[in-house]
Amino acid sequence: MIWNPEKECMDKVARERLQFARLKNLVEHVYNVVPFYKQKLDDAGVKLSDITCLADIAKLPFTTKSDLRDTYPYGLLAVPQAEIVEIHMSSGTTGTPVVDAYTESDLNDWAEAMARSLAGTGACKDDTIQNAYGYGLFTGGMGVHHGTRKLGATIIPISSGNTEKQLTMLRDFKSSIFTCTPSYALYMAERAKELDIDLKSLNVRAGVFGAEPWSEGMRQKIEELWGIKAYDIYGLTEITGPGVACECEVQKGMHVNEDLFYPEIINPETGESLPDGEKGELVFTTLTKQGTPLIRYRTRDITYIINEDCACGRTTRRIHRLFGRTDDMLIIRGINVFPSQIENALIEIKGVEPNYLITVDRNPITHLDEAELQVEVSAESFSDETKNLEALRSNIDSVMKSKLGIHLKIKLVEPKTIERFTGKSKRVIDKRKL
Ligand code: ADP
Ligand code: ZN
Repeated sequence: MIWNPEKECMDKVARERLQFARLKNLVEHVYNVVPFYKQKLDDAGVKLSDITCLADIAKLPFTTKSDLRDTYPYGLLAVPQAEIVEIHMSSGTTGTPVVDAYTESDLNDWAEAMARSLAGTGACKDDTIQNAYGYGLFTGGMGVHHGTRKLGATIIPISSGNTEKQLTMLRDFKSSIFTCTPSYALYMAERAKELDIDLKSLNVRAGVFGAEPWSEGMRQKIEELWGIKAYDIYGLTEITGPGVACECEVQKGMHVNEDLFYPEIINPETGESLPDGEKGELVFTTLTKQGTPLIRYRTRDITYIINEDCACGRTTRRIHRLFGRTDDMLIIRGINVFPSQIENALIEIKGVEPNYLITVDRNPITHLDEAELQVEVSAESFSDETKNLEALRSNIDSVMKSKLGIHLKIKLVEPKTIERFTGKSKRVIDKRKL
């Protein structure tokens, strides 16, 4: 279902006109009320009169994570604090405290973006949405919550964890939509199997999964194990939280809620703007945000923009499934490796689970990087003969070598020994002091 056809199916030229009007208002407002932005624009030598069309956005300076750190907690506030009704903070994957402060109107926009996202995955008023994203400062829980309220569906605010209770609630309340991180969805399937619960016998028909990178292979696996359609949803605290972009039923990229969040792709090394279709770092400008508006915020996430008609009828541009973030990209002996590439490769290998941990260190004598990949063996292959396990190990070794272009030391570990996560998973330990 299309929640807001007026905005989601808007004529592209009309949308650009709206985006430009909003951009101009935004720049003028923050220049006048936020000293940080005044300084930034002055330093960059940009005047309001320089912004004469949407493409002029490229003249504006970027805002970065370190700007947010430097202005913590309230340095970017663009309204009196009395107007703030809710705050959230980043879950801290990269250790930088990031605050988002929302006015009533910001919460309404967030709920709107989430209602559109949920509706795009087939949700409606009749659904019961069991929300296993964490509630609290993390935006996942409250984002789905606000959106579900707007949609008028029933929300079960169970939050993350407590897996057995999740399974009981899914059964008792016939939840039709389940929301959590993809790694938790996989873990739930594992627990369900142990408890002899057939997920396919439940009433769940769709899952809305995000907050961390996952692969197409992982989607297939979750869809198979749960007997559902698994949708990808994207967002980040700085920009508002989940719902910045979400897949529709066509599942070919995530529609960006472009009237609210203006996307660009840049070359992460040079900062130069890249055309639609080219891969680079995703940058967002919040077009309607009042509390903590951001101009050209560098997300560090890697993707490209898809500017083609979608069979669903929405006219908004889409972003491709994320390739990872520049901060979790490992450079091992000069070669760029994203953890999601490892997941993608593992998922195709029989006899292992997509649970892994990669540890990178630098040899003190040779000064070369050494990476060890721990991979969890499935229960069936674990009981195999040693020579079969050795064959499995050597197979993983050659698959990784051909897919990543580097050699990883492969260590097979017993089933269920690698840590499970109820929220965002952590798969990399980098011990190098770089
Ligand atoms: P943190 O930076 O602490 O993880 P957030 O909780 O705000 O903070 O998470 C936002 C980040 O999570 C995004 O910038 C992105 O890297 C990642 N993310 C969110 N949704 C997805 C998704 N669907 N696919 C891949 N990565 C995602
Ligand atoms: Zn679509």
